[in-house]
Amino acid sequence: TAVNEKLRILKHVCVNTNTLVDFVTSKGKAVTGINNSWPHPSSRECGITGRKYTYDKVRMLTRRFGSALVRMGFKKSEVLGLVLPNLPEFPIVMLGAAGIGMPVTTVNPIYTAEEIARQMQNSGTSVVVTIPQMADTIREVASLCPEIRRLIVVGGPQEGFVSLSEMFQDSGDLFDENIEIDPFEDMFVLPYSSGTTGLPKGVMLTHSNIGANVQQIVHPGTCRVIPTTSSNVSDSFQEVYICVLPFFHIYGMVGTMFTGLDHGAKLVTLPRFESESFLNCLYQHHPTMLQLVPPLVSFLGHRPDLKLEAFHRLHTVFCGAAPLGPAAANKLMDRLGRRDILMQEGYGMTESSPVTHMSPIINNQIGSFGEPVSRTRVKVVDLNTGESLGPGQEGEMCVFGPQVMKGYYKNVKATEETIDSAGWLHTGDIAYYDEQNQFFIVDRLKELIKVKGLQVSPSELEDVLRRHPAVLDVAVIGVPDDIAGELPRAYVVKKNGISVSKDDIAEFVDVKVAPHKRLKGGVVFIDAIPKTNTGKLLRRELKSMLLSQIS
Ligand code: AMP
Repeated sequence: TAVNEKLRILKHVCVNTNTLVDFVTSKGKAVTGINNSWPHPSSRECGITGRKYTYDKVRMLTRRFGSALVRMGFKKSEVLGLVLPNLPEFPIVMLGAAGIGMPVTTVNPIYTAEEIARQMQNSGTSVVVTIPQMADTIREVASLCPEIRRLIVVGGPQEGFVSLSEMFQDSGDLFDENIEIDPFEDMFVLPYSSGTTGLPKGVMLTHSNIGANVQQIVHPGTCRVIPTTSSNVSDSFQEVYICVLPFFHIYGMVGTMFTGLDHGAKLVTLPRFESESFLNCLYQHHPTMLQLVPPLVSFLGHRPDLKLEAFHRLHTVFCGAAPLGPAAANKLMDRLGRRDILMQEGYGMTESSPVTHMSPIINNQIGSFGEPVSRTRVKVVDLNTGESLGPGQEGEMCVFGPQVMKGYYKNVKATEETIDSAGWLHTGDIAYYDEQNQFFIVDRLKELIKVKGLQVSPSELEDVLRRHPAVLDVAVIGVPDDIAGELPRAYVVKKNGISVSKDDIAEFVDVKVAPHKRLKGGVVFIDAIPKTNTGKLLRRELKSMLLSQIS
């Protein structure tokens, strides 16, 4: 409360014109603009086509895009749906919309029409931006979502879509710099997360949530990046990030895109992970920091042919989103062969913008996800009593800080179940900390499954499975996997008298969900799903049954 109170006071005095998402101006307004002082030739560049924008150009196009939206009749608080892979235009669209007060909901562009429509309906999206390859899917989505009034395409013309390049011709005069935005109340982004339980929910992240988290991440005690300033504007100083982590997920969005823009980095975007294009980008652009997830750390560590000269500027390898085994971390560090490179782990959640912990830049311990970032308080509580626990004791980790979401969109019940009355966000993760305040993950209390760092909601898959005519009851859990981290597995109780195979069930799901949600952990037929006497699914019992089978 004290921290939030301080920020409320700051609202009227703090003028910070040097960052991407200026926290608040003297008028109490959040400015989602781009730093004025960076004339870099390359602010972002497509790693495949080489299409480039300078910071100057991005600033101009952001205004033009925002202005074109106003000309189309869109207003503050209407939601823009972004169904895009990583492209140089991604932040232009996002900041253009946010600059006129339109929150942006981001969607994985490999989702099916059904999955996208669910998010668009729930968020009340009124305009969607996508790529030509997704045009048919988005037309189908629009037919299911009457609130969608316009479709915009990045790339070649498509029937029924306005092209982004046309919007870039706008005069920009309707971009209102004095629009009233309350940084503490107004949403900036609305990503979806299943949280501790149930279906994916809209996570309301305000301008101040994101602004605070960018500043927490780039705090000099936490991060080795060197911000571009007027005295070091040159390619040999500029930070270089290869943006392979998807911007639609909070880690890529804030941890790579916004922090990169905040300190004037060159961002090289890759629309998807493909081993050859990823390696070529590394070899061509010589990154200064790598933002990775555990499967990418393993991928690089296991490449005996890695051209080490590409990493001569690398100062940090950062990994987050899922547990990173010390073996994989050490393997990559040995492969890179330089002791001065920092192997840094971070922990975060969509609900906390995302980062709450990062390993320190001195005396970091591989295997720990570090300590709380600035202005963040963390406690570990007993699962039964809720009492705060001391070092070495395992319990649920709870977080308090300016990066904690405002709540779930139109879902007071889920918000109250996740953020308690004192403002603590209950992470649903079991962790402990040592005498040096370094935190370690133990297990997940919540039902969430993470496949290659991406969320899979068991409830969502169970809903799909229940539609199969042969399924009487079902429970989905994650099973450990060396490459993906976890894979979804369904335990199914069949209806009497209907014959069905495991493959039939898996195929039924395959066509209805994005590839990372498919039941690659298998389908298992069982007689009954373990439940409490009130009918609540005992998911953890199912998990421990599975773990005892494995061991
Ligand atoms: P998301 O909201 O998609 O970012 O997922 C958040 C969840 O990812 C957390 O609640 C954790 O379960 C998991 N997670 C994030 N970072 C780490 C980490 N460094 N180690 C282990 N699990 C992590």
